[in-house]
Amino acid sequence: MDEFSLIERYFRRPGPDGEGVLLGPGDDAALLAPPAGEQLVMTLDTSIAGRHFPDDLPPFETGHRCLAVNLSDLYAMGARPLWFLLSLTLPEVDEHWLAEFSRGLFALADRAGIELVGGDTTRGPLSVAIQATGAVRADQVLRRDGALPGQILAVGGVPGLGGLGLRHWQAGQRDSDSARHFAAPDLDFTLGQRLAGRAGACIDISDGLLQDLGHVLQASGGLGAVIDTGALPVTPELAALDAEDRLTLQLAGGDDYRLLFTWPADEPLPEGSHAIGRITGPGPVRLRDPDGSERPAAAPGWRHFQ
Ligand code: ADP
Ligand code: MG
Repeated sequence: MDEFSLIERYFRRPGPDGEGVLLGPGDDAALLAPPAGEQLVMTLDTSIAGRHFPDDLPPFETGHRCLAVNLSDLYAMGARPLWFLLSLTLPEVDEHWLAEFSRGLFALADRAGIELVGGDTTRGPLSVAIQATGAVRADQVLRRDGALPGQILAVGGVPGLGGLGLRHWQAGQRDSDSARHFAAPDLDFTLGQRLAGRAGACIDISDGLLQDLGHVLQASGGLGAVIDTGALPVTPELAALDAEDRLTLQLAGGDDYRLLFTWPADEPLPEGSHAIGRITGPGPVRLRDPDGSERPAAAPGWRHFQ
């Protein structure tokens, strides 16, 4: 099968084009009409087999996952997903792999309302690069630098789920809730836009809560934060772990692809999110345990994760 029939069979779909798509895959390049009155938000993530996802991740999950990591960045900016480009590097043409990959990719694309408008197909070690574009009104953009002392620190979803899922995946426990979340991250399709124009700062948790919080605090002028460890949401799988092990995953596990944001203290939190602490003036990040005691967030137990 040559490159052209491969694209035709697995990456071109009949049906109405997405919003603003004047010309999708098939010409030299895509032709797109930016939504009037909005700004474009662009992101690119490359996923290399064996490095960004396991070599043995099934193709359906691979398609889902490689798009999910990009959508997560658009949501973290408060954007509405519009279009994406797919650069696919394949070691060989495996039709079963392609059919499943494209099924996983488009299943998520359809739920998110994002349209594949073009790409590139090459031969080499398996890797998937996706460039995604969204749109947001100028006064609705979510950025990392908007945190202020006194704001609530909040998360959507359950930090630690992705990290526990990776552990389960590596141990061969692939049917657990967390392993399924790791393989095909479950996104919140609406929270980002519900935060838009209202949250202080926002970031997606891809490298672990503390590290991503660090980016927010630094971008916001070197602020500090207190995290209430007892307020971190859990699933039954996380709840069953030893407390320090759980905390390590919650604070330093990656692959969550959920939002961490700051929020005005006097406003009710958006549905589906949890308050986990607050932003303070300049200073270190501290952990407050349920007994009221505080400790610096640089505990030796999880430092090796950073
Ligand atoms: P060119 O040599 O002009 O770059 P390509 O053969 O790379 O042309 O691509 C031909 C058309 O197919 C383009 O419109 C391109 O966007 C689209 N395309 C190529 N690979 C993919 C892919 N993996 N997914 C979607 N569209 C693709
Ligand atoms: Mg090309």
